[in-house]
Amino acid sequence: MKIGVLALQGAFAEHMKILADLNVDPIPVRLPSDLGKIKALIIPGGESTTMSRLLSDYRLMEPIKKLIKEGLPVLGTCAGMILLAKNVMEAEVEPIGVMGIEIKRNAYGRQVDSFESDLSMPFLGDRAFRGIFIRAPVVKRIEPGVEVLCRINDRAVAVRQGSMLACAFHPELSDDLRFHEYFLSFISGDAIAKSNC
Ligand code: GLN
Repeated sequence: MKIGVLALQGAFAEHMKILADLNVDPIPVRLPSDLGKIKALIIPGGESTTMSRLLSDYRLMEPIKKLIKEGLPVLGTCAGMILLAKNVMEAEVEPIGVMGIEIKRNAYGRQVDSFESDLSMPFLGDRAFRGIFIRAPVVKRIEPGVEVLCRINDRAVAVRQGSMLACAFHPELSDDLRFHEYFLSFISGDAIAKSNC
């Protein structure tokens, strides 16, 4: 099974390694022609401003948006979450704009620019998941139809809308495969359910 990882900038190599550990075939996506072969897409952490510019330069913005709207499962982590949002409060990012969330970038403030936190996500099992946050975005508004999967205090840090999954932390930087495994379960679940209706 081939899973695409947007490989224009940022932490794509780490996602590709986790996918390889899960015995699926990671495909780096750099050109529109790379999108033909994939069953799901991961948009990594990095710099959302740079990535949004490169998405347009490489003519990937529109084809990716279309595929996601047609039901291609997508996981966005950190900058990837920013790019999936319908609204980003800072004008310098032009997002793909598919998920019903509004995002403020770098919103945890300077002192807590980067931190780690044990996250409770019962759908991954009893054991906590180590969340690694690096200049993470904050979800400011959530539309109906978007499910909050995990919070820290009252802040949503993982959200799902159908086959779209986004998190403010970096699951690719821990050795824990469970979040990616959960995402891969969408391929046989939602994606197939959608194509049947
Ligand atoms: N602060 C970055 C941005 O706004 C995201 C950081 C990350 O992906 N670790 O794009």
